[in-house]
Amino acid sequence: MEGDRGVRKIFSRSSSVFTNHRYCQGRTVNYLPVTSVFCMGAPRCSRLLLVYHTLFFATTLYKFATASGNLCNGTASILCSSEEADTPITRFQRYLRIKTAHPEPDYSSAVSFLTSQAHSIGLQHQILEFSPGKPLLILAWPGSDPSLPSLLFNSHLDSVPAESSKWIHPPFAAIRTPDGRIYARGAQDDKCIGMQYLEAIRNLKEKDFTPTRTIHLSYVPDEEIGGFEGFAKFAGSKVFEDLNVGFMLDEGQASPGDEFRVFYADRMPWEVKIKAKGPPGHGSRMYDNSAMENLMKSIEVISKFRESHFDAVKSGEAANSEVISINPVYLKAGVPSLTGFAMNLQPSEAEAGFDLRLIPTADPDEMRRRIAQEWAPAARNMSYEIKEKGSLRDNMGRPMMTPTDDSNPWWLVFEQAITSAGGKLAKPEILASTTDSRFVRQKGIPVLGFSPMTNTPILLHDHNEHLQDTVYMRGIKIYESLISSLSSFTESSKG
Ligand SMILES: [Zn+2]
Repeated sequence: MEGDRGVRKIFSRSSSVFTNHRYCQGRTVNYLPVTSVFCMGAPRCSRLLLVYHTLFFATTLYKFATASGNLCNGTASILCSSEEADTPITRFQRYLRIKTAHPEPDYSSAVSFLTSQAHSIGLQHQILEFSPGKPLLILAWPGSDPSLPSLLFNSHLDSVPAESSKWIHPPFAAIRTPDGRIYARGAQDDKCIGMQYLEAIRNLKEKDFTPTRTIHLSYVPDEEIGGFEGFAKFAGSKVFEDLNVGFMLDEGQASPGDEFRVFYADRMPWEVKIKAKGPPGHGSRMYDNSAMENLMKSIEVISKFRESHFDAVKSGEAANSEVISINPVYLKAGVPSLTGFAMNLQPSEAEAGFDLRLIPTADPDEMRRRIAQEWAPAARNMSYEIKEKGSLRDNMGRPMMTPTDDSNPWWLVFEQAITSAGGKLAKPEILASTTDSRFVRQKGIPVLGFSPMTNTPILLHDHNEHLQDTVYMRGIKIYESLISSLSSFTESSKG
């Protein structure tokens, strides 16, 4: 059975013990083409399974002991004694040390670690695999009223690569400096939130809090490379539909100031290639319609379009993320020679590539018309390719934006939860880049991008990415407030 094979494949790389979760008293559900496994955790498993669980934890512990050992031999040896304790900070460090950076993210170790954390606080877990080697972990804390739409707290497992030689501390050692900075790839983007969700739930459970709505956490692969094999497939699955998500929180960005940043939309990237053709000729001749001339005319038109939007940013009328941006990313032309390019030959083909980012209110049809008629007109022997990385409209035809006013009851609860935890929110923003949020907004479900980091330099994808321990710990408190408020809110059905 294809699904069955899928499950074995998921676990074979990390621990074969995992496959035995299928024998737990929890639910095993097959959704072709994926198989998902629900397990309520060790207490509900058979005696045989307890043995397997013990083995699983032993394997996991061994892995982390080994990781720690490596670290102790390195630059961080003075920190080892304090890191042996099991605290929110050391658990964060352990997650950061799992190398989930592209191009070879170790998803299976990350999922094993998170699953062990979930078991330790009594959450249900389900592992899906929509693409081979790319597991997706769903955790659940069932609410007292499962008929209400649930909450989804999302984070991605992967991160961008790191150039170790440019870092002051190794990017996968998660070193905590004496002044409390934790250096690691993923410290801000976005392993912090993935662990803060768990720590907040751990604290709420200790306080005997019971959610009314069911709370789901998702840990997804491949966000940093577009999410097409990760959240895109998840969002289109029956599993997602069955979660009955009413509201989602996803990653945001650090705030250098005192106020938390929150994002209600993503800009949508389009990759645009324009190609020109024309008669070749001697470099000395001036004639009309050469490929280079045609391409240069288009570049002039595109530059004017770019300026008109950039001027609004320069004059302070709009933020960077509130305008359409376009930037040239490559130029390709010329006839190669042994020393470079033939300098006396006008080529018959020329090409340019652009990174275009559209705001949610932009008209995609108008943009396509502009590209076809003004940027790459067939009348000038030009052609084009557009790769749209997602839709600008949701399934109901509306711009993909989550309202941040009284019309959205989830917003009001969100805002109140931040305030009651002692936080202040900055003016809601459009995110300049793209996250997995778009796959959920597409379905008309409200999503906010939020990572609780104030007084923190924006270091995502940068060298020396780090997060202050106190900022991390405060974030846990913020999520305690958010999770308890949002899961107790019962007035809205679907947001
Ligand atoms: Zn991210």
